[in-house]
Amino acid sequence: MPIAHWINGQSATGGSRSQPVFDPATGLSQQEVLLADSATVASAIDAAERAYPAWRDTPPLKRARIMIHLKALLEQHADHICQLITAEHGKVLSDAMGELQRGIENIEYASYAPELLKGEHSKDAGPGIDSWSEFQPLGVVAGITPFNFPAMVPLWMWPMAVVCGNTFVLKPSERVPSSTLYIAQLASEAGLPAGVLNLVNGDREAVETLLHDPRVKAVSFVGSTPVAEHIYHTGCGQNKRVQALGGAKNHAVVLPDADIAGSVSALMGAAFGSCGQRCMAIPLVVAVGNDTADALIAGLRQQMANMRVGAGSDNRNDMGPLVTHDHYQKVKGYIDQGVDEGASLVVDGRVLAVRDASGQISQGYFIGPTLFDHVKPGMRIYQEEIFGPVLGVVRVASLKEAMAMIDAHEYGNGTCLFTRDGEAARYFSSHIQVGMVGINVALPVPVAYHSFGGWKRSLFGDLHAYGPDAVRFYTKRKTITQRWPSSSDAQYASFSFPSG
Ligand code: NAD
Repeated sequence: MPIAHWINGQSATGGSRSQPVFDPATGLSQQEVLLADSATVASAIDAAERAYPAWRDTPPLKRARIMIHLKALLEQHADHICQLITAEHGKVLSDAMGELQRGIENIEYASYAPELLKGEHSKDAGPGIDSWSEFQPLGVVAGITPFNFPAMVPLWMWPMAVVCGNTFVLKPSERVPSSTLYIAQLASEAGLPAGVLNLVNGDREAVETLLHDPRVKAVSFVGSTPVAEHIYHTGCGQNKRVQALGGAKNHAVVLPDADIAGSVSALMGAAFGSCGQRCMAIPLVVAVGNDTADALIAGLRQQMANMRVGAGSDNRNDMGPLVTHDHYQKVKGYIDQGVDEGASLVVDGRVLAVRDASGQISQGYFIGPTLFDHVKPGMRIYQEEIFGPVLGVVRVASLKEAMAMIDAHEYGNGTCLFTRDGEAARYFSSHIQVGMVGINVALPVPVAYHSFGGWKRSLFGDLHAYGPDAVRFYTKRKTITQRWPSSSDAQYASFSFPSG
């Protein structure tokens, strides 16, 4: 049976096309996933539209309680969810658990819905007049998510959308469908009424249907920049509210006064965790001064030599494979390109051979951690998002030069600075043109009660994902002005705005 959809609280088939889902650690296909056609997506929107009136009128506290139940179910089934993630994405199990935990934190935040939706109230805005703003749901909203966080990124979206009173159609990545689908089923078990959360597996056809159906009022997207830009312009052209988070190329700057050993350890996890397939990964280190660069490279080489690469299901491994064979070819191509462009290849991940349990060379999509020195801004390995375990060192003479380089880059998702100099850190965090900044923190992913988003071509739209911005994104403001005149009050017509 191919992996199906989840529509109106039950499993649903639909769409004549399907595609294989691979285990990246073996290169073998485990199963097929259905790709929804337009009619199937329309039926998911129908279900969401039918569920909307009753769900909109359900008290926020009751909606929030379902999130509390779901949190308990996710914790109870965490091991199974992580196995599903690892079997299709490839990341090591402990990293899958980390992503699930981050997703659960978004559910915890969503469970504060009654507090988050309290609105704003002004008594006596005028004589005997009260005024307040309330935040009402939009209706049916949609989410389209990438392969690299099959549990977490959908949980950035739909829990906040539904506690705000919307109903939802989710289109997860067709490369990693199982954990996302399983979580949607758990949401039903937790008490989410049929039709409030619908999930359609699919590709471009499903996405275009969501973008063009006028019943879909808003779209949240996370994925690569070319697709994000397309979603943003198409969705806005259809008068939808859109937030589209795109790709990244995050720089870590290391000053000469930094704790080099600590910086090296932090950079190892940020560059090679999840095989570099994180939008907050660090693929570039900007070393201020040649001594800093030399010390970093020595430390990185040493730690890279000790890394264990292999199947994500073996928790002794530090890093699993890339997600697909195509992506493996692409990352390998970037390493070839870096050599051609004149960067110095210090550690070459292309030569890695992983053996499977029977001692044979694995057919999985493994590539070893790779390190380049003397990377320069004109190179493609500097400009483009590789999304693999490839770290480049750029040598500069000053913090000013490092900051100018970061500001000139097309992406502005995350960045970080390693230093012991508080003045430099304050200047950096105040002025750098990037949305999320770490000071001696390599992966400054905001916690669930702040919001997540980059600047420049890393985000199209105005509001960031999850946290307080999600309340604004998934609601529209209504402002009510009210008076209750007594019957004895004289009623004169007035033709001017009140003054004084
Ligand atoms: P992707 O853009 O290929 O796919 C994302 C989603 O869009 C998937 O659901 C896919 O089915 C759909 N899609 C793909 N091509 C489409 C098209 N032409 N038209 C309509 N829909 C299409 O991204 P991916 O490879 O799954 O994920 C990796 C990318 O996501 C990286 O660029 C990474 O930086 C980015 N990402 C960004 C963030 C962030 O918060 N900024 C977080 C995670 C991942």
